[in-house]
Amino acid sequence: MSYPMEAGVGTAGVNVIDLRSDTVTRPDATLRRVMAEAVVGDDVYGDDPSVTALERAMADVIGTEAALFLPSGTQSNLAALLAHCGRGHEALVGRSYHIYSAEAAGASVLGGIALEPLAELPCGGIAPDTISRAVKPDDSHCPVTRLLCLENTTGGRAVPLATQQAALDAARAAGLVTHLDGARIFNAAQALGVTPARVAAGFDSVSVCLSKGLGAPAGSVLCGPAAFIRAARRWRKMLGGGMRQSGILAAAGHHVLTHHVADLAQDHARAEWLRSGLAQIDGLDVETAPGQTNMVWLRFAGLGAQDLAQAMLGQGVLIGPGEGSLRIVVHRDIDDAAISQTLAGFRAVFAA
Ligand SMILES: *Cc1c(COP(=O)(O)O)cnc(C)c1O
Repeated sequence: MSYPMEAGVGTAGVNVIDLRSDTVTRPDATLRRVMAEAVVGDDVYGDDPSVTALERAMADVIGTEAALFLPSGTQSNLAALLAHCGRGHEALVGRSYHIYSAEAAGASVLGGIALEPLAELPCGGIAPDTISRAVKPDDSHCPVTRLLCLENTTGGRAVPLATQQAALDAARAAGLVTHLDGARIFNAAQALGVTPARVAAGFDSVSVCLSKGLGAPAGSVLCGPAAFIRAARRWRKMLGGGMRQSGILAAAGHHVLTHHVADLAQDHARAEWLRSGLAQIDGLDVETAPGQTNMVWLRFAGLGAQDLAQAMLGQGVLIGPGEGSLRIVVHRDIDDAAISQTLAGFRAVFAA
């Protein structure tokens, strides 16, 4: 896997169609006005009304008792793992999930928590027997298996609720607590045709990103019971995530939670348009597994991923190269014209 966001490609002020990630969305005039007008306090003292309002609103939407605003999804997952586990505990997590593959092993480095990567099902979930077999015996040689982390959506796929529930049941049977990395839980809910609270049901904690498809400039919210959130608040302080007039960011988060969730359906429709258009191109193999949301995964022979990404940049389309596959992410700054231009660009590259 490569991390194109670290490749140093600057796009500010350059007219490219940026399909690297749904994190690249920029606040529009309305969102900037909301931020400018936000009522703020000092959130470390607990008196920033915009932060408190966002936390209340997110707890209600996700269906938990309490919630906590953090600067990033990585810190939100980390605070959750630190609150659930102690040194020498073990967290089970899908091998490709963000917590295992893209958070610099923070839980291990800072928390002394062992991360055990598990094989995933084709749908992105984890089979119950994979979980049961990974739980260590009560033996002084072993870490104490404490937590199961799931992810939904994962790799752009919404994991079916029955699959998710079977994993939760296996975790519960083994006495584990459970955490959902719901960075894109609203995409999952949209694709599954259920409420976000339904996707979150059964977990002890849930982390939600505001800065992905919802389009806020920064921020994540960790949701769970009040006692857990109190513990996570102390970890957030320790991790340097206690912010002061963070109501400016929280107001943006609250705005997108209220006004942008419904737009995700359009991202999914445009991704589907792209998927079906790209499937017509000879030499491109488009992932069509069920549960697709706002991402398009391509495989192709011949041209290397780096070369294809470079050729597409020549067409005005920015895509991060992977290893033999390519991820395209549709988001709210991508309109119909951008999809047409992207398809035309791919056709031109593959006709050449
Ligand atoms: C983006 C993301 C996160 C958190 O990322 P940050 O960049 O730290 O906000 C966590 N999990 C998943 C699945 C993600 O996609």
